[in-house]
Amino acid sequence: MKAAVMHGAKDIRTETVPDPVCAPHGVIIKVNACGVCGSDLHYYRHDGHDGTIFGHEFSGDIVEVGAAVKDITTGTRCTAVGFSPCGKCYWCREGKMHRCSDMALLGYHFPGAMAEYVHVPFAAPGRSIFPLPEKLTYEDAASVEPLSISYFSVNRSQPKESEIVAVIGLGVIGLYAIQVLKATGVKQILASGRRPSRLAAAKTCGADIVIDAARENAAKIIMEASGNLGVNTVFECAGTQITFDQCVAVARGGGKIMLVGVYEEPLAWQPLSAISKNLTLIGCLGGNFPAAIELLKQGRVKTQDMISHRFSLDEAAEAFRTQDADPTAIKVMIKP
Ligand SMILES: [Zn+2]
Ligand SMILES: [Zn+2]
Repeated sequence: MKAAVMHGAKDIRTETVPDPVCAPHGVIIKVNACGVCGSDLHYYRHDGHDGTIFGHEFSGDIVEVGAAVKDITTGTRCTAVGFSPCGKCYWCREGKMHRCSDMALLGYHFPGAMAEYVHVPFAAPGRSIFPLPEKLTYEDAASVEPLSISYFSVNRSQPKESEIVAVIGLGVIGLYAIQVLKATGVKQILASGRRPSRLAAAKTCGADIVIDAARENAAKIIMEASGNLGVNTVFECAGTQITFDQCVAVARGGGKIMLVGVYEEPLAWQPLSAISKNLTLIGCLGGNFPAAIELLKQGRVKTQDMISHRFSLDEAAEAFRTQDADPTAIKVMIKP
């Protein structure tokens, strides 16, 4: 089959690789759509493993089912969480493989979905394989993974309708967080980012005030908009020193900072700034596929304005270049 294979920093080539073989507990999915993720770009920029096939935000049709798999049939349209349980940890020994504490991840530790076919080695309906309601398109389904991360973070903050919240960092996770917050119902959503295309998208997603952090003083505007009280909750979706400092500055006394963005560098900070305001810092790492699918099914979250570019599998190198460097890129999809 054809697959997009990494050969070094910024070197992705579409080439022929062996077809995947279905394990007894696995399924093989014919890929229809696969998103390029910010996490992929990290390895793409800094030279990941030679031979890596990325792709963990995907959808397609099940074409082969392992002998030991129950309740999954070929022809099912689905999205999936790709992981391979270690088989040794506490959770694996309890039979709860989906909670494995040492799982290998599809698209990083073993081949992902930027290919014609992808093998999901551990297939269980509702745990790793999620059949699609008729209403969801393949592109919706390939957006479930990032949306599920946004949902998880918003849900973890337990927003109330009376609250003012800010989302700092307008990558796809931040943009979907705005949509989820809007769907949940909060009083006011402020959004701060840098790229014009994403500032426009933030407005479409439902932000009430959009701040161009490249030109404006985000912290000052957020403080003014909240009557100088600060916001109840701030979502840190960028993962930089500057945005972290902004979050601490604009969080209201007793407020929450949701740490969502991945930091490539350690932070320098004065914990007293959080102590003196009684802030709660909450780390967010997790997803919720069923909740994300439900939001899409109900039409309360929409993916189409998030998908800025589409490329064929043969154009995978261009897809990565676009996601990495094109200022108009929001989410780039590869369509094998
Ligand atoms: Zn991702
Ligand atoms: Zn395990």
